[in-house]
Order: sequence, then C-alpha cells, then structure tokens
Amino acid sequence: MSDLERLHELQLTDSALDHMAYRRSHLEERVAFNATQAHTQGTRKALAANVARRAELDRQYAALEASAREIDTKVTRLEGQMRNVVVTREAEAIQREVATLKAERDAADEQGLVLLDESETLSAAAALLEAEIAEAETAEGSAAAVLAVADAALDAEAAGLSERRRELAAGLPGALVSLYESRRPAFKGVAVAKLQGTRCTGCHLDLSRVEIEALWAVPQDELPECPQCARILVR
Ligand SMILES: [Zn+2]
Repeated sequence: MSDLERLHELQLTDSALDHMAYRRSHLEERVAFNATQAHTQGTRKALAANVARRAELDRQYAALEASAREIDTKVTRLEGQMRNVVVTREAEAIQREVATLKAERDAADEQGLVLLDESETLSAAAALLEAEIAEAETAEGSAAAVLAVADAALDAEAAGLSERRRELAAGLPGALVSLYESRRPAFKGVAVAKLQGTRCTGCHLDLSRVEIEALWAVPQDELPECPQCARILVR
C-alpha cells in the first residue's frame, strides 16, 4: 500500500469514527428507549394531575360539609326560637328563613354528589394510570437493557476503529499525518478523497481528461489535489 493509499484508509477510518456519534444518537434502540421513557413520564404526569384534581375536590367537599353543618346549626337554632314565638308574623318570617336555609342545604348536598361523582371517576382512572405506569416502567427497563447491548456493540466497533487508526497512522510519515490532520477541519473532516473513475469522492464532481492527466503528472514527492475542492486526491 502506498503512503497515499494508506492516508486514504486513515481518512476512511476517521470518517467512520466521526460518524459514530451520529449513529449512537440515531440508534433504533435509542429511539425506542426514548419513546418508552416519554410514555412513562407522560403517564406519571397524568397521574399527578389526577391526584391534584382529587385533592382539590376533597377540599371543595370539605368546605361544602362545613357550610352544611353551619346551615344545620342555624336551622336548629331557628326551630328552637319557633317554640317560643307567639306572634304569627314572626313565626312566618322564621319559617321562610328555615325554608331558604333548607333549600341551600339541598343545593349543597347536590353539589356534594357531583363532586363525589367526579372524584370516583378520577379514582378509577388513577388505578388504570398506576397499572399503566407499572407496565411502562417494565417496558422502559427492557428497552434500556436492549439499548445497553447496542451501545456496547458500538463501543467495541469504536475501539476497533481506534486501534486501526493507530496502526495506519504509525505506518505513515509523521509530517504527512500532521498535514492531513491540520487540513481536516477546513474540509468538514474529509481532507483526503479518491478518484473513482473520473469522479472525486470528496466533492462528487467529475474531472476532465486534461485534469486527470495533470493529476497523474504530479511528482511522487508532491500531493495531488482535486482541482475542484482542493482535497488531497488519491489516484
Ligand atoms: Zn474534489
């Protein structure tokens, strides 16, 4: 293998290593795991909202009960007064007040039933949500295990590539490796391309016959470059 061919191999290895992060974040197993995690979180959130709403209903119900007790006390007091009243008009006034209070009491009872009804519906929903969370957590755990396996496979692949990179770099003149590394940033990591037929694999443009002839005419001690993208072009 010539130095340039070896340099191109080094480039391919570096590109594969560069692609690793993308592959890691786009792993099918990671996408699946993220979905299970989002589901668990969403369900937990729904349960928290359910619990908060039931607490609010409990508060409202307690307030209703307190006002019902107040009404009952008033009614008892008024009925006590009734026994001592002799004037008809006064008795009628008390009766009207008692009737109003009893109507209020009925309305409170009715509202209490509405609250209890909603609370019961929410309790049933909460039981379902709890079961769903347990299921979602199990699914998340399985997905995490599958993801760990996929990540480990990528780790092994990355370790292999790094080892290959070390070997390739060790077999090249240090100055050439330094030059290559210094040029990589300007070319989004790809500083070395190959001429495939008439096409540069770096910019994917075709070279003319004259350009290809010029490329072959480059002396051994100089680096051939693509006339379009200026990458080192391996013939
Ligand atoms: Zn090119």
